Amino acid sequence: MEIRTSYAADNYTIHVDHGILESRLADYSADYDAVYFLVDRNVYQLYKDSVLSFIDSPIILEGGEASKSFDAFKHITESLLERGIQRHHLIVVVGGGAAGDAGGFAAATVLRGVDYIQVPTTLLAHDSSIGAKTAINSTHGKNLIGVFYRPKAVIYDLSLLETLPQDEVLSGFGEVFKHALLKDEETVRDLMAETRGEITLDALKPFIISGIETKMHHVLNDEKESGIRKYLNLGHTLGHAIEYRYKMPHGIAVVLGLYFTMFLSNEVEGRKIFDLDHFREYFSHHGYPIHKLKSIDEDEMMSLMGRDKKNQSRAATGFVLMKSIGQCHFIEIENTELKKYLSYLKESL
Ligand code: NAD
Ligand code: ZN
Repeated sequence: MEIRTSYAADNYTIHVDHGILESRLADYSADYDAVYFLVDRNVYQLYKDSVLSFIDSPIILEGGEASKSFDAFKHITESLLERGIQRHHLIVVVGGGAAGDAGGFAAATVLRGVDYIQVPTTLLAHDSSIGAKTAINSTHGKNLIGVFYRPKAVIYDLSLLETLPQDEVLSGFGEVFKHALLKDEETVRDLMAETRGEITLDALKPFIISGIETKMHHVLNDEKESGIRKYLNLGHTLGHAIEYRYKMPHGIAVVLGLYFTMFLSNEVEGRKIFDLDHFREYFSHHGYPIHKLKSIDEDEMMSLMGRDKKNQSRAATGFVLMKSIGQCHFIEIENTELKKYLSYLKESL
């Protein structure tokens, strides 16, 4: 399966399938004099004797978020320069969203930009590898130092996902679910039906593809986030606060945020857009801790949401809500009102 971007220029293809990595990379690499691999430590350990056996002496990225530190950035760029990287060489980044962000940022900045290919290895990376955002973290917060930099291709080899720990599957599934909500009612219904018992990667494949298409739709005409790209933030305003407070994997916190968004959409519209019991049972069945919402501290959540870089005004908080599945809108809610809604949410659980 292939999805092609449709920007005015600098387009790239996203290849999604099982067992495609080596052959696709060979096609792309043929255009370059040298290729440098940046590979997440855990992924390399798992696949160095199988899917990644063709990779010779990669630069190892510390597993996960550790690869997005200043020290890691120094290590990556100095290693590339040490090995003699030049402008017309290629960088291939293999790993989850963290490796993708860190490797993409290194590719964007070393020698003022070298071509790179993303090889995402987590379910969440169906989201993070699309949209050209690269970043590392600051002591002042996550993703504060970065640039927009498009890859030459994304090669999403689904056979690499089979070793994902269950928490990472649940986290990535949070974004799959968000993309279904952004798309339409039928997609949400099908997704819930296909995953009624358990969430299996096999069942997810069509929804991963549709999620990539949905993300692409939102970023294509709005790469710099002034209009509909904002809708991708669905569930993230409270989600980020919960992720920070409870140190939860990103997509798991996003599901809690999505549940609040459904609750808030019902309240603001004054009608039952979402059958909350139905969604709560479904999420809880899969192990998402919806019950944690009952014990949140409203003041603490308000202050954490106020720090979100997407909130421009102090007296009100920006929220993406839904008029129906697939139909989002952005509103500013007075902070005093929002705090009341958080209390109502707690009472409702
Ligand atoms: P991650 O990259 O931190 O990976 C999670 C863990 O899984 C790590 O320990 C990693 O080593 C391991 N892992 C990766 N692939 C594996 C595999 N196939 N089998 C077994 N283990 C594997 O986490 P993530 O959830 O993929 O990404 C989160 C990051 O993505 C965050 O830093 C976030 O800021 C970023 N992000 C970026 C964007 C964007 O648009 N650029 C969007 C969303 C999130
Ligand atoms: Zn997210």
